[in-house]
Amino acid sequence: METQSQVVDRLRSAFLSGVTMPEQFRRTQLTKLMSMIKDNEEQILSALHKDLAKPKFEAIVSEVDMVINELHYAIANFKSWMQPEYVNKSLATKLDDCFVRREPLGVVLIIGAWNYPLQLIFLPMIGAIAAGNCVVLKPSEVSAATESLIAELVPKYLSKDCYAVVRGGAEETKALLRNHFDHIFYTGSQAVARTILQAAALNLTPVTLELGGKCPCFIYGRVNIAAAAHRLVWAKFFNMGQSCVAPDYVLCSPATREALLPELRKTLEEFYGKEPQKCPDVSRIVSLRHYTRLMELLGKTKGRVVIGGESNQEDKFIAPTVVVDVLEDDALMQEEIFGPILPILTVESLEDGIALINHKEKPLALYVFSDETSVVDTVLENTSSGGFCSNDGIVHMTLPGLPFGGVGASGWGNYHGRWGFETFSHQRACMLRGWALERLNGLRYPPYTEDKLSW
Ligand code: NAD
Repeated sequence: METQSQVVDRLRSAFLSGVTMPEQFRRTQLTKLMSMIKDNEEQILSALHKDLAKPKFEAIVSEVDMVINELHYAIANFKSWMQPEYVNKSLATKLDDCFVRREPLGVVLIIGAWNYPLQLIFLPMIGAIAAGNCVVLKPSEVSAATESLIAELVPKYLSKDCYAVVRGGAEETKALLRNHFDHIFYTGSQAVARTILQAAALNLTPVTLELGGKCPCFIYGRVNIAAAAHRLVWAKFFNMGQSCVAPDYVLCSPATREALLPELRKTLEEFYGKEPQKCPDVSRIVSLRHYTRLMELLGKTKGRVVIGGESNQEDKFIAPTVVVDVLEDDALMQEEIFGPILPILTVESLEDGIALINHKEKPLALYVFSDETSVVDTVLENTSSGGFCSNDGIVHMTLPGLPFGGVGASGWGNYHGRWGFETFSHQRACMLRGWALERLNGLRYPPYTEDKLSW
């Protein structure tokens, strides 16, 4: 069996041979990736169900269709993204060709997380292939069924010389990081991101970090409370809160909270029935470790559980849960929840809400629910976050025209659509000159006489 460094060496030789440079090669690989997803959709859905009990609908819209849509978009557009971009010229460069050329970086490493184990591997890979790179994929070992399927399918469909899957957990990933890559694209927790950065520093490898954090949902002013409850419950409990862009906590006035709670109760019953554990639309917590982490958080909170709270360790089931009377120093407010627990904090004013948001790390997404445009605008103008969406959650990330990524502690860099292509490209500044105007050039050569300065 090949060692990790042999895999990387093999891909590097392929890259240096120039095989990935022609547009046609990239197009063929993207098309094969499309076939891979379509031919094996049933197996993919079954692996996602095994890993997280993902409901079929959620698995299709948030994994399979996300990859297919991204492929369609890249296949339709990447030829134009590859074209040189001519820039404005100065008088002294009028006769030159001045353009930006997008070049592949080389052999890149994509490390994925377990919560959307298909999408988080293949969406970045589409950008990397379109940009002409060779790619090592390192899916999450936590979502083991999907990891295994990815390792089986990729070599069957894509060029083995240019793309490889390396399996394993923390130790294997650390060993893999000792190899030299031209870019590392990491999706996962902030804690592990530090390990990735340390490894990347040794080779001065550029890194994209797709991390998480606490995404607020600020409900303020006049608001359609029934619609707000539907959209909030959907965004929070999709994949049972195991989404990097899930609303992590709600901020609202005490009066809004009182109006919201019965609507949340009603919506949760409408969506998942009276016994959510029996509902096929409720995913499970990915592992016992994460189940225990979430149950410990619930045990530590000083807030009051007003909806849900039921759990079953054997089944890794936690019911959609709402907690009120939560203060900023509560256990639920110290780290990203990443599970089906929704704390509600109250604030007295728009300014207090904005101050609370700004007091914390910049989130990956920020949601504002309000009928009042001035409220939405005020929050947008006075905060910072990776993405922003008013009156809904998660959906902003489905549009390939919008960059997807964090800011500060929620991540560095972005992808989706052209943004992914750019992340995996070097923007090479090119000036092609001839030998004309040599007499004019005399103006910049020594001796630097006074009269040359007056030019
Ligand atoms: P994870 O446990 O699957 O880890 C992510 C990857 O890091 C895996 O491939 C794993 O093998 C590797 N890894 C784990 N420990 C390592 C170590 N010590 N050294 C090197 N590699 C290691 O996933 P996770 O970290 O639990 O992911 C959840 C986090 O990811 C959440 O914070 C979530 O918000 C974030 N996330 C972000 C995005 C995004 O697009 N911004 C998407 C999904 C998840």
